[in-house]
Amino acid sequence: MTAAPEQIDVLDEAREQVLERGVGLSEAQVLKVLELPDDRIPELLALAHEVRERWCGPEVEVEGIVSLKTGGCPEDCHFCSQSGQFPSPVRSAWLDIPGLVRAARQTRETGATEFCIVAAVRGPDKRLLSQVRDGIKAIREDGNDIQIACSLGMLTQEQVDELVAMGVHRYNHNLETARSHFPNVVTTHSWEERWDTLKMIRDAGMEVCCGGIIGMGESLAQRAEFAVQLAELEPDEVPLNFLIPNPGTPYENYPVVEGTEALRTVGAFRLALPRTILRFAGGRELTFGDLGAKQGMLGGINAIIVGNYLTNLGRPAQQDLDMLEELSMPIKALSQTL
Ligand code: SF4
Repeated sequence: MTAAPEQIDVLDEAREQVLERGVGLSEAQVLKVLELPDDRIPELLALAHEVRERWCGPEVEVEGIVSLKTGGCPEDCHFCSQSGQFPSPVRSAWLDIPGLVRAARQTRETGATEFCIVAAVRGPDKRLLSQVRDGIKAIREDGNDIQIACSLGMLTQEQVDELVAMGVHRYNHNLETARSHFPNVVTTHSWEERWDTLKMIRDAGMEVCCGGIIGMGESLAQRAEFAVQLAELEPDEVPLNFLIPNPGTPYENYPVVEGTEALRTVGAFRLALPRTILRFAGGRELTFGDLGAKQGMLGGINAIIVGNYLTNLGRPAQQDLDMLEELSMPIKALSQTL
């Protein structure tokens, strides 16, 4: 089997640069990877897996997420069924504290070490922050030592400080897509506003979780742009989503990203981000099916969300845990230093 010389080059370069030296690929290199033909994908995934093992180790982080406030968001992110601006079937709803405590306990019982509290808002108001504070207190009083992350939209400095004081160790705020594509996806706030929140989180010492969605009409060049913009942020974790064309949203008729294309994207993002926790997030069942999920785990992914993904049902947690056991990948233990 022969391949064009420049296609061989980019993986050879990646082997020396990313695997040996831990330096992520440049934008031009990521684009070359995204343009690799299908018959190079196994080689790409094998390299991405080696990179992940070398720079992150064999462990897989398992996380559960719960929606504290669902739907009715004033923003217009075109992919999102929780926006109040589109006629999607998601209704506005709040979870109460006992429900939050139960969800945290069930998540911990799966062996997960991360529990992320999510709200569909532009940014938190006083009511939401006090719910989060009471919720975290109640989770601790329940004897649950799970690490708590939050995803509550854009923050002020004061709110960042409040979350640190509550013991929130990681904050999720997605850039969603390349800076050049963002205005096509969201018009009610800017990419830069999201970036500013992420900088405050980083400066306050919280871990940064920041990713996005593939398949929102971006070009391959914009996917490469997005990968290096994420790398510049040096996030601790990158959740990689594939668009779920939710009914009622402007993207309801967008095609699902094909499995091979998704795998190529996973491999390319791993080579751009050798040290990050790269998480399989929403849309993976639709894109990959069961078999592809396994391929992704052997192609650079080292974290998964178990159970629900806010508005779309994921696979049952046990199926994912069984898959990790089959692949002999240990679940990351809870940090002893916390
Ligand atoms: S800010 Fe978040 S919850 Fe609101 S529409 Fe955008 S993605 Fe959805």
